[in-house]
Amino acid sequence: MYPNTQLLINNQWKDAQSKQTIAVLNPANGQEIGHVAKASIADLDEALLAAQSGYKLWSKWSAYKRAGIMRKAATILRERADLIAEIMTQEQGKPLVQARGETLAAVDVIEWFAGEAQRVYGQIVPARQTNVINQVFKVPVGPVAAFTPWNFPINQVVRKLSAAIAAGCSIIVKGPEDTPASTAELFKAFIDAGIPDGVINLVFGEPAEISEYLIPHPIIRKISFTGSTAVGKKLASLAGLHMKKCTMELGGHAPVLIFNDADLDKAVEQLAAAKFRNSGQVCIAPTRFLIEKNVFDSFVEKFKQAAAKIKIGNGLDADVDMGPMIHQRAWNNVQKLTEDALNKGANLVYQADVSNLEKGYFVGATILSQVPLDARCMNEEPFGPLAICQPFERYEDAVSEANRLAYGLAAYAYTTSQHTATALGQDIETGMLAINHLGLALPEVPFGGVKDSGYGTEGGSEAIQAYLDTRFVTVAT
Ligand code: NAD
Repeated sequence: MYPNTQLLINNQWKDAQSKQTIAVLNPANGQEIGHVAKASIADLDEALLAAQSGYKLWSKWSAYKRAGIMRKAATILRERADLIAEIMTQEQGKPLVQARGETLAAVDVIEWFAGEAQRVYGQIVPARQTNVINQVFKVPVGPVAAFTPWNFPINQVVRKLSAAIAAGCSIIVKGPEDTPASTAELFKAFIDAGIPDGVINLVFGEPAEISEYLIPHPIIRKISFTGSTAVGKKLASLAGLHMKKCTMELGGHAPVLIFNDADLDKAVEQLAAAKFRNSGQVCIAPTRFLIEKNVFDSFVEKFKQAAAKIKIGNGLDADVDMGPMIHQRAWNNVQKLTEDALNKGANLVYQADVSNLEKGYFVGATILSQVPLDARCMNEEPFGPLAICQPFERYEDAVSEANRLAYGLAAYAYTTSQHTATALGQDIETGMLAINHLGLALPEVPFGGVKDSGYGTEGGSEAIQAYLDTRFVTVAT
């Protein structure tokens, strides 16, 4: 059964004061399965006061006590992984195994940040006089406003939520209206673990109305957003205008460089999984496959065979590998980008037939080759199961194409040459580069982009710093 979702304010689940709701659809069949409460300004005011009082209490708790609650929440989430996966698949569409994997990955993130809470170190700076002590403290920045999307309803939230509360901040999350119930399950785990009132708050509603109210609000001290570059630029401008700290995790258009010395079978196996996971609705999904000319045909043929093996359907069915797109807008976008590329002369290597599927937002795994540079999909993020294969002759040409776009989130390469691997690490303008394996998005390593893909990292030892201020205290005795 699919649960309706309320707002979470001060540890109370409640309807919006206006009683308004937004319908939630199952993307596998377009049917309405429930609804989510739609907050108005009055609800946001309540959430702001809750976050303010939650912050006063939580920021005074010891890091060890905060970490204890976080570890308990992680245990509860692990126990509920099967139940949460069913909820997530119904509203988001991804196969059950991916939904369960996402929930367990969130457990990993919470546990890792619980450890980080205990490793927030300050500094003692040598003083010029013997009677002076120079102390540098790291203090929580204050209540946080976070905005998270629907593609990973739990994992896009958990990185922000865990880092914020590990640092001693409180948080208001504007969750994804398309996929609210699995996000709410994450919050339930923390409530059931005993987190105090007001530390974590969850609202839904009209995204622009909520961000325009929360970002400038004096109670809020830090903003974190995951979503498109266009929206990210607007929110970052508003945060800048009001002197708010800000993390922006935006879109990508990941290049994959495949050299002729690569293990092609390994590359195909890993890249097919990465490309079509979550129907390509992943900010770090490989998109532009740049393949050295003398292995181009061989790679494309193997990749086509791998794509043809992907079973597309309702994510609740046991043997399905790829579910539908999230909504009609996302479906239209991939169709339009594909049509545009074909009209401009691209070659259709493969497109899975989805005409036999029930009414839902299904798009077949699609592979294009020889796509002209002015095709929209060469410049805009497809955010769907669309792979573009292009041949290259020289290393410099591949690097130049990889760096051509304003995006710089993830990049991938396959080569057995240590020399090439080392050079790529220097030459590719990206926040993350994975060579010969898919090693991104673990809690202990940096996660973030450069250029139009945003700034700040949501993983690794720097992640908690985004939720801390530096306070210098010098004392003469
Ligand atoms: P979008 O940017 O409109 O929405 C993404 C998220 O941002 C949603 O949760 C939405 O509710 C929220 N949002 C939108 N406008 C907002 C505003 N003014 N204030 C606060 N939040 C706002 O994109 P979309 O149409 O839902 O998805 C398509 C594009 O979004 C993709 O092409 C991709 O570039 C990007 N996207 C990126 C990620 C990521 O993981 N980086 C995730 C989802 C979407």
